[in-house]
Amino acid sequence: MEAILVLPDQLTEAVGPVARAIAGDPSERRVLVLESTSAWARPRHIQAIVSEVLAARRYVQSLAQQGIPASTLRCAEVRAGLRDLRTTAGIERLLLMEPASPEQLDEIRAAAAAESVELVVVPNELWLTSRGEWEAYRAGRTELRMEHWYRRVRAARGWLMEEHDGGARPIGGTWNLDADNRKRLPRGATVPQPRHFGDRSAVQRIAEEVGAFAPRAFGTVDAFRWPTSRPEALDALEAFCTERLPQFGPYEDALSSEHEYLFHSVLSGALNLGLLTPEEVCRRALAEWEARREEIPLQSIEGFIRQILGWREFMHHAYVDFRETWRSANGMEHGAELPSMYWSGDTKMSCISRVVGKVASTGYAHHIERLMLLGNFALLLEVVPQQVSDWFLEAFADAYPWVVVPNVVAMSQFADLGLITSKPYIAGGAYVSRMGDDCRSCAYDPKRSAGLDACPLTTLYWSFVDRHGALLARNPRTATQVRAWEQRSAAARAEIRARATEVRRAAEAGTL
Ligand code: FAD
Repeated sequence: MEAILVLPDQLTEAVGPVARAIAGDPSERRVLVLESTSAWARPRHIQAIVSEVLAARRYVQSLAQQGIPASTLRCAEVRAGLRDLRTTAGIERLLLMEPASPEQLDEIRAAAAAESVELVVVPNELWLTSRGEWEAYRAGRTELRMEHWYRRVRAARGWLMEEHDGGARPIGGTWNLDADNRKRLPRGATVPQPRHFGDRSAVQRIAEEVGAFAPRAFGTVDAFRWPTSRPEALDALEAFCTERLPQFGPYEDALSSEHEYLFHSVLSGALNLGLLTPEEVCRRALAEWEARREEIPLQSIEGFIRQILGWREFMHHAYVDFRETWRSANGMEHGAELPSMYWSGDTKMSCISRVVGKVASTGYAHHIERLMLLGNFALLLEVVPQQVSDWFLEAFADAYPWVVVPNVVAMSQFADLGLITSKPYIAGGAYVSRMGDDCRSCAYDPKRSAGLDACPLTTLYWSFVDRHGALLARNPRTATQVRAWEQRSAAARAEIRARATEVRRAAEAGTL
């Protein structure tokens, strides 16, 4: 007998073998959704585990309601699950969409081979772009940059393109409007809240059930809000497009202690579980923009499409190619330990304390909080890149290796010295102060780089420029900072170096 094996991050009714079964594929294969208790035991945010389990069970129910024989395949390890399937249900052949992370495919292949179950792996239709497109993009290139990839795949789809001089060009003549997307949120601004989902009792019940297997899970479920079914995910998409897309662009980089989600879509969870396809998300947003061009600025729709068609796809393809390199990349030879404040939020730095608290309670932070606060601070502290990556994997509800490793090891920690990005993303307190309101309630002064009340980000920023001057001087965008450092007096530099040493010690001791 044959069955379709569905992984807990492939819960799609829209594409792939299950969608074809719903549409009346005559083979009527049984659908089995993997529920591996050893996966629950891996340290993750409790909301990551709960949303996966809840969504998988609701998916099974939904398929059953549509007449598809479906159940969960609960097992401790995949191999034991496959053995059970063969011996008790006579299933000898499994159809599987390619997992997002290749190492998971290796694990399932090995288990299937050991249990004499034939495994047929078909392309994962949840991705918006194919490996063929990626390979054509990579051919002959020595430098991989998201921007080049994005232009190519966007032009191929004709998204946000217009006719010009007998050819096609990006609407308005500019591919990337990122420079317009750096506004600070004005005081008292109204921000529509994203939809909140999650039946409290179901969430609590599953948290208790998985909790027994997951003693090291991070965070709490009290503020659980993730969509865990396709109707909920579609509702979240609809609410984003109609209520928040217009302001998405201008405030994409803003920081706010008042508005947890700002104008972000908060769709990463639904996308990463497979409840939505990136293609339908992009098409829905494009349709909204088409219908409301007067109200939705080009920078909002362009920025949003770039995140999904550009960054999300680029990072996934890059992970498939470079995951082995990133497993140990540490080009700057960083050796510090991740400080305990990343777990406790216990620090006088109000930005870090606020965001760690939010991650614990919601499993979420938006891109700039991840990159320019949490990632930036770890980089400036010179933490071992893989420790930073492990923390991100354990701390977020939408975390999976294929998305965390490239974003953290390559993009945020620059550990490969520029495989996919051109420079390290570093910033001092001035950036945080410019983009949001965190500094208002902070014990430290973002403008000061030395002295007891100097912002640790500002001190460590200059210390980083000092220690990595040769690397930063290679890029014209960071070379100016190296010159600015060199122009400081010897006494000023010595003061910053001394304070940086104190900051590193205090971070380690948990007293910063
Ligand atoms: P929006 O700002 O509304 O963006 C829309 C969508 O674009 C997101 O839902 C996401 O699917 C996609 N997207 C945007 N940027 C990226 C990117 N760099 N890589 C991949 N997809 C992107 N994303 C995750 O899904 N899971 C993670 O664990 C994760 N960890 C990250 C860690 C670091 C250090 C950094 C710098 C980025 C990380 N990202 C991760 C990417 C991005 O920050 C999140 O996808 C985004 O913040 C999710 O919030 P949102 O859905 O409101 O996104």
